[in-house]
Amino acid sequence: MAEELKEKSYEQPAVEEQVAEEENIPGVVTTTSQEINKFLQKTKAQDFINWGRKNSLWFMAQAMGCCGVEIIVTGMSPMDTDRFGIIPRNSPRQADVMIISGYVTKKYLPALKKLYDQMPSPKWVICMGDCSISGGPFYESYSTVQNIDEIFPVDVFIPGCPPRPEALIQGFLEIQKKIEAREDKGSGYDG
Ligand code: SF4
Repeated sequence: MAEELKEKSYEQPAVEEQVAEEENIPGVVTTTSQEINKFLQKTKAQDFINWGRKNSLWFMAQAMGCCGVEIIVTGMSPMDTDRFGIIPRNSPRQADVMIISGYVTKKYLPALKKLYDQMPSPKWVICMGDCSISGGPFYESYSTVQNIDEIFPVDVFIPGCPPRPEALIQGFLEIQKKIEAREDKGSGYDG
């Protein structure tokens, strides 16, 4: 008898059995997070969520190259990006947007990937300046990365050397439009 109890107490039902048991509880409907996600994407709830997302695009304060000076200017009071919900954050863990500005050296690329990985999803990427888009003055340089859009899912490209702060704000507005239209890459829609 004691042996039977011992066996029973350590016996764990298989996961499939547990699910089957839960599914059979009268009045209880079980589901999965994937199913909830699919449901939200098809309904107006997703529009409401996107409204919140597009109006709170916090970008990582990560000024690279000389384009970085334009990012700093964009964060200053004359531009007042706060009115669009665009606010700089010093930690990738609290940022929604990564701005890749200036040249990306092969030495810096691993750190940039790590910062991107540390950002919570959904997240968006802006490619700012000729250097990050095509290499710019550093085209085919031995030390810089040229194919940045093959490494990161870039939503918006802002050409220029350097692009003005107004152009960067326009880039943010374009991301907002994409999020609203569910055409952005950062949210990972199934379609
Ligand atoms: S695009 Fe022009 S301004 Fe921007 S980092 Fe490159 S050289 Fe500097």
